[in-house]
Amino acid sequence: MSRLIKIWMVALWSMLAGMAQAQELSGLARVEVGRSQITDTRGGGIELRLGLTQGVPYRVYTLEAPERLVLDFREVDWRGVTQEALLNADAVEGLRFGGVRPGWSRMVVDLAGPLAIETVEMVLDDSTGAADLTVALSAVSAERFTEVSGAPYDPRWDLPPVSGMAKVTALPGEGPLRVMLDPGHGGIDPGAERDGYNEKELMLSFALELKETLLRSGGFEVMLTRDEDRFVSLERRVALAHEQGAHVFISLHADALAAGQAHGATVHLLSDSASDAASAKLAERHDRDDILSGVDLTGQDDVVADVLLDLARQETKPRAKRLAEAMVEGIRATGAPMNKRPLRHAGFSVLKAADIPSVLLEVGFMSSPRDLENLTNRQWRISVAAGIRDALRAWAREDAALSQLVRQ
Ligand SMILES: [Zn+2]
Repeated sequence: MSRLIKIWMVALWSMLAGMAQAQELSGLARVEVGRSQITDTRGGGIELRLGLTQGVPYRVYTLEAPERLVLDFREVDWRGVTQEALLNADAVEGLRFGGVRPGWSRMVVDLAGPLAIETVEMVLDDSTGAADLTVALSAVSAERFTEVSGAPYDPRWDLPPVSGMAKVTALPGEGPLRVMLDPGHGGIDPGAERDGYNEKELMLSFALELKETLLRSGGFEVMLTRDEDRFVSLERRVALAHEQGAHVFISLHADALAAGQAHGATVHLLSDSASDAASAKLAERHDRDDILSGVDLTGQDDVVADVLLDLARQETKPRAKRLAEAMVEGIRATGAPMNKRPLRHAGFSVLKAADIPSVLLEVGFMSSPRDLENLTNRQWRISVAAGIRDALRAWAREDAALSQLVRQ
């Protein structure tokens, strides 16, 4: 796909985002069969035309093995659409369409050979709001097809494949403790900002320093949800911990709250209700940041999945609580300033890994001048990292002993 088309598509995503919101009030966009058709074009190419009752955000790309064209849409209504009605091209072998994840629809066009996207255009009718999407593909060599194919990276579609999420998380036993560090925010989401510093950069530095501290001491395997300045959705952070079989998950933050509300290190645990207004505000803000940075794809778990998750959380809860308590003790022992209520509860999405003890550490608050001075001081951060290392060691020992007791 040419660079120009890609840039243009990104612009379209954002342009149509507002439109999609308005559309939710008036029902889904429908595919109009009479204005939709896939036909052969000269030289072995195809042209796909889709008539929609309203414009929606979308993206178009090709994938290999087998060769296929993929169109993703903010949810559309396919009622009345059939392969027979749409398909009138020899260069196409088949057609599939339907929902792909909550709020999103997909059409997959199975190609008879390597065809590359040449042009993509969505024309909106000003008076009716209807949209016509036209995608033209032309025949290319297999090499060229490989070059231009692949799902585009998009922060709104960054969940790892489902197959990769099935890994069972083991209890920490004889081997190293596998720690997933999660530097908060990133990319288009800077987190808190004060005096030319921002949370996303400070927390990435801290995560890398903490990783170094843990690796040097031995007995740890350390993974990061991001090791560069890039946006990672909350769901992906949790999914990565699962995928890589993490034993514990630690989200690292240094947020800003209105003056006087917060200073000193604070460890948050997941709960359905927040322990206090400040924690509730923090959780709400983090979840909202994620939604603003992309499109929220969550919130559609079915009831059975919810029950299973709750069961898993019941077992994980006491382990997570002991982890949070160990962290408070470990950091306190370094002499770092602690919040006067250092252990709190809130409904952070990032803590929702059902089977992995997860905590969210506010290392300090950027809104507190004293905390900001500490946070921007590498020596201070390294001493806190050592406190966390001691906490993890103490927790792993206790957790192993307790899980043996349970097994006996
Ligand atoms: Zn944060």
